[in-house]
Amino acid sequence: MVVATLVLYSLFAVIQHVQVLWGFIDPQASFWLTIYYLAGSLGFYLLLRTGWSARLSEDPSLLTWQLVHGIVAMTWSYAITGPARGAVLAIVVLLLTYGMFNLRAQVARKLALFTFGLLGGTMLLMSQFEPVRYPPRIEVVHLAFFVIVLLGVSELSTRMGRLRERLSRQKQELEASLMQIRQLATLDEITGLVNRRHITSLLQSEVSRLQRSKQIVSVALLDLDHFKRVNDQYGHDAGDIVLKAFADAARSSLRNLDVLGRWGGEEFLLMMPDTAWDEAMYCIERMHANLAKVSFDSIAPGLRITFSAGLSSCRAGDRWEDVIKQADAAMYRAKAMGRNCTVRG
Ligand code: GH3
Ligand code: MG
Ligand code: MG
Repeated sequence: MVVATLVLYSLFAVIQHVQVLWGFIDPQASFWLTIYYLAGSLGFYLLLRTGWSARLSEDPSLLTWQLVHGIVAMTWSYAITGPARGAVLAIVVLLLTYGMFNLRAQVARKLALFTFGLLGGTMLLMSQFEPVRYPPRIEVVHLAFFVIVLLGVSELSTRMGRLRERLSRQKQELEASLMQIRQLATLDEITGLVNRRHITSLLQSEVSRLQRSKQIVSVALLDLDHFKRVNDQYGHDAGDIVLKAFADAARSSLRNLDVLGRWGGEEFLLMMPDTAWDEAMYCIERMHANLAKVSFDSIAPGLRITFSAGLSSCRAGDRWEDVIKQADAAMYRAKAMGRNCTVRG
């Protein structure tokens, strides 16, 4: 903003100088105006560079004050420019338009009123003290056209404001929908765990990362024991409650980087990045212990739920599909060994 302002002021200074050469503007008046706007611009530049602007105002760019400064400079220019002064009004309108599109509506309105008062007052004073150079009727015409342009711009900026508001509302709605879609696409509804598709893609990227390191990713398949009985004896809703309770208990046993996903039905896949098998075993034991503490008395007094797990680990060069197959085979061995235990594949 400051650089753009400086460029505009420089162009303006060139035109002003030409007008001095052609005799429209008194050289001394031009000199003082130049001092005013250069000093002002330098002042704003220093305030912004030193960070003082942030302490002085809520808006660290001091846009309102920069515009006030510009409008005062242009009104001053109007007062000394003589015959070509009508053109200066175009720059005043430009400054106000900039304000209307960038300031809050209330501030922009105040700025427009201030400009109208300042310019109207200047026109009145000039037509009083220099009626030959500033004939009152011409000043009235200038002011009237200025007001017409101002009303037009303000109407335009109101419309733009509404458009901007609608756009930002639509953007918010879109972001919310996107988040919902992302949740629906990655989470399992009953347990709140990530779904099969998502944990598969997490596993794939974890395994591809392995190619460049010596780390181990441990993977376990967990399957609830005799879950069909729960459904058969207490109903499908009770089965759902058990699935959710299992997920909650398991989640509380996980470490930060571990991910548990619902693999399907009453089977779950646990991924433990950067974890050797003994550590992974310990983590699954903690899950067994936590699940043992969960009471399912609301379904049937004394009901206990257990799971069987098959553990396998993945190193650089292994295929993730093979690792899951190994874990699955180990899980079936755990079932064969009497359930409620973990077997390493
Ligand atoms: P095992 O110890 O050998 O694993 O026996 P199991 O009864 O757990 O195994 P089986 O595969 O025979 O039964 C799994 C049952 O899980 C069958 C199916 O009705 C039930 N099931 C799968 N998905 C859901 C679900 O979303 N909600 C409920 N309530 N039940 C489900
Ligand atoms: Mg099963
Ligand atoms: Mg089962």
